[in-house]
Amino acid sequence: MTIDNSLQSPNQIPADAARMYIVAMRLREPAICLRTNDFSETSQVVHFFTRSSGSVRLLAKGSKRPKSKTGGAIDLLGEGDLVFIPSSSGALGTLVEFTETVSHSPLRKNARRLNIALYMIELVGEMLAENDPHPELFDLLHNALARLAQEDAPMPAVLAYFQWRALKHIGLLGELKACVSCGIALAESQQAAAFSSRQGGMLCRRCAAAAPEKLQLTPEAIKGMVILAAAEAGKKVSLEHAEAMAVNRVLAYHAANQIGKPLKTAKLVLG
Ligand SMILES: [Zn+2]
Repeated sequence: MTIDNSLQSPNQIPADAARMYIVAMRLREPAICLRTNDFSETSQVVHFFTRSSGSVRLLAKGSKRPKSKTGGAIDLLGEGDLVFIPSSSGALGTLVEFTETVSHSPLRKNARRLNIALYMIELVGEMLAENDPHPELFDLLHNALARLAQEDAPMPAVLAYFQWRALKHIGLLGELKACVSCGIALAESQQAAAFSSRQGGMLCRRCAAAAPEKLQLTPEAIKGMVILAAAEAGKKVSLEHAEAMAVNRVLAYHAANQIGKPLKTAKLVLG
């Protein structure tokens, strides 16, 4: 009896099966680079926010070589077309190919714009659990970065809207129109006094006095939050620079409380 060695070879069938498996699991998605770490002299671990798979951590083998498929090391804010093999076990996935399709050079050339953009991606990276899809948040980030790159962008206002919508989307922010504790309407700004991160919203004067954790609001912050509440109700509004900065401080306070630590880039943006 003869045995067909080509079929009995221990490597051949598993290798073909593995190849088919890899081809089947490959995903192609729009993605934004949130974080990078050196893995070795030539490789990186890259944390991407993908539109349909949420945040993924990938090993980019050889990405730092100039002739790699990514055309050199992948940078923060890099945005484009990502091909990857997701991890099945919570380990690192594998980057197959990444092509930048959106140029963020206007953001990278201006320190103020760049810092705000870096804060946005740090916030998203900290808020998202891995492999948890949030296409609306992806679009929000994509649009905010694009707006920020425009010459006439009102930078603090772009950041304020981004923080507000991102926190709202994740479910961390309550209604801004009413006291989050007693429900009294805050449309009359005289009623608003503080923001409670634990309760996830605005507090009226009476509830603020009794709240153990709260941030007292400046008149600019109250005005800014009232403007955001109007935007929430569908009104077209605009935030002045001082109001937007005050709102950014409140929302950054809230984000840091929820994440459990201040964001590294917060000082650069809010200082
Ligand atoms: Zn109240």
